[in-house]
Amino acid sequence: MVGGGQAASAVATKRVDVIVVGAGFAGMYAVYKFRELGKSVVGIEAGGDVGGVWYWNRYPGARCDLMSVDYSYGFSPEIEQEWTWSEQFAAQPEILAYANFVADRLDLRKHFRFGTRVTKAAWDEAAKVWRAETDRGEMLEAPYCVMATGPLSVAKDPDIEGISRFKGTLLRAQKWPHEPVSFEGKRVGVIGTGSTGIQIVQTVGRQAGELFVFQRTPSFTLPMRNHELEPDYVAEMKRHYRAMREAMRNNPTGGTRPATSRPYFSLPPAQRRQAMEHAWINGGHTFLGSFADLLVNQEANDQVADFVREKIGEIVRDPKTAEALKPRGYPIFARRPCLDTEYYETYNLPNVHLVDLKEDPIVEITEKGVRTQAGETELDVLIFATGYDALTGALLAFDVIGRDGITLKDKWRDGPRSYLGFMMQGFPNLFAPSGPNGPAALANLITVAEHDVDWIADMIGYMEANGHRSAEPTAEAEAQWMRLVASLAEKSLIRKANTWWVGANVKGKPQGLTMFIGGFHKYREQCEAAARARASNFVFDRAKASAAA
Ligand code: NAP
Repeated sequence: MVGGGQAASAVATKRVDVIVVGAGFAGMYAVYKFRELGKSVVGIEAGGDVGGVWYWNRYPGARCDLMSVDYSYGFSPEIEQEWTWSEQFAAQPEILAYANFVADRLDLRKHFRFGTRVTKAAWDEAAKVWRAETDRGEMLEAPYCVMATGPLSVAKDPDIEGISRFKGTLLRAQKWPHEPVSFEGKRVGVIGTGSTGIQIVQTVGRQAGELFVFQRTPSFTLPMRNHELEPDYVAEMKRHYRAMREAMRNNPTGGTRPATSRPYFSLPPAQRRQAMEHAWINGGHTFLGSFADLLVNQEANDQVADFVREKIGEIVRDPKTAEALKPRGYPIFARRPCLDTEYYETYNLPNVHLVDLKEDPIVEITEKGVRTQAGETELDVLIFATGYDALTGALLAFDVIGRDGITLKDKWRDGPRSYLGFMMQGFPNLFAPSGPNGPAALANLITVAEHDVDWIADMIGYMEANGHRSAEPTAEAEAQWMRLVASLAEKSLIRKANTWWVGANVKGKPQGLTMFIGGFHKYREQCEAAARARASNFVFDRAKASAAA
């Protein structure tokens, strides 16, 4: 049976070696990698330029909470030396400038079609090619298709009545205008208090006339303690980049934050307290590097959560607001831990008001603002920071049709399934770097993307050296991977919170922790082992393989 790609055969088809969907960090690197391997590559990107999530997310305060020297490409020692980060945690404009610098330096833009969406991709088993249709009426054909569509790229509006009625300015964090937005003297509302909402609140709270924060679930957030990087420090980093990259390969987060094997209760109470105070002062993700078992030991987790709640109580002056800001009912770190700059202090400003939706739920959005049970809050500007249809949303947003007409939507009806996170049985030669069953959302996404693209390139090299035209994982390899993912997930406290990590933020989405939570270093070892055992984990040239059987 031939995939659905033939239906549009009236359209002129452009043939290349590799189609790459997405111009975020994974897509940019994939285009570069395959071009350097001598392949013809076309990249498709919905945005107007490179940068992926950093192209779209221009909201005030947008910043990465991984250290800038970690959150950068490791494949080019030249780029490492030429680019200089200005802050420990870079803000969105600097990260986007970095993406642009890399695109210019490597002359990547000429390979991309910007402002273009793939509307359908289908595998033709007879011709052994993927055919991708775009919304510009183009048809691309290639033996290999790389879906670098990102885990956080499909924005999600809140499920609230009346959104279209609002007559003020409605802004979405994930699709922020390119022009500056002034909040001066305005009544501004923010819905959403995840990492995005926190960054918006701490920034806009200091600019707006009045800021109303509509909070359903408070997040735990820890001090970022961001600072400018001293030239001497930068020079030192640049001298040690190679050793750092090696350390990142062997680190659970794919970054340089030191990992520890020390369990929380291995220390006496006074030292535990001291370690927590140190983590609070030191900032960043120091807590997770201080104790090894915070995601598996409920009691240890409870004590750290109590410590953070205590700090919230010390910072926020109004006791009722402080109480509402204290997260309860789920383990700390089971939602993505946020890093902030004086987020809690923002609530001490007289113009900033917390609306606790647990006590006073939103009824609807009106022409003038937001109506909760207690009444209407009139607003000039309403900001949605309500997250993403994460991990799978981008890959399910259009038809991806594999062998025998099976669609990815069908395959993933009960949740995403893949081998190693980036290859799917039934979808030959389709690769999804940073895919939903890998470690992506829990690790440094650039490290993961580079690793996955390198692995994919090696796989393609292997196929071509051995005369194979197609490859897909065996059903058993995929099932084994998913069993491993599930068995690791079972032990983790992450399952206990309603988050995008488990699909809980999207109505009707299959629920469950489907990411590989064993750490990037272990993931890398699994991928290496899989490559060594390619003959047993993959079916090559299925038609030939079944004819021979
Ligand atoms: P998110 O973590 O999914 O948070 C969405 C927020 O919107 C939650 O507070 C949610 O409340 C709220 N919400 C959704 N629907 C609502 C409704 N109908 N009424 C009221 N509230 C509603 O999304 P995000 O903040 O965009 O973050 C997503 C991920 O992006 C992060 O976890 C992180 O991985 C990444 N990110 C990273 C950074 C960084 O590096 N610093 C910054 C931003 C984002 P409930 O929890 O009650 O559903």
